[in-house]
Amino acid sequence: MDLPTLQLIKDAFQLLREGIGAVKDAKSLLPGPQQEAVSATIEKANTTVALAEVQIAKALGFRLHRCAFPPPIMLEVKTPHGQDQRCPACGYTTNYNSPDDGAERSWRSESGMR
Ligand SMILES: [Zn+2]
Repeated sequence: MDLPTLQLIKDAFQLLREGIGAVKDAKSLLPGPQQEAVSATIEKANTTVALAEVQIAKALGFRLHRCAFPPPIMLEVKTPHGQDQRCPACGYTTNYNSPDDGAERSWRSESGMR
């Protein structure tokens, strides 16, 4: 996948999040029961967007960490050893001596994802 395509995907997710945020802001204008329905829909939308991001990240070769669900996407960081990958949620960092330390493999085997 080329860089312009990645940027388009990133922009699309950002717009989705902004749209969800706008609905969240506007829900206070609705009567109580409708606010609850909108809250439930917003929560489902947030989860769906997060899962879609994870699927795309996985397809692009990013590793996932199993410390939360949806699984956080591990990002590359510079370390004294070179380049490792770190979970933005819990701070777990891969060991440079063992680049395939099981973070993604464990997620894949338990979720049935490929
Ligand atoms: Zn983590």
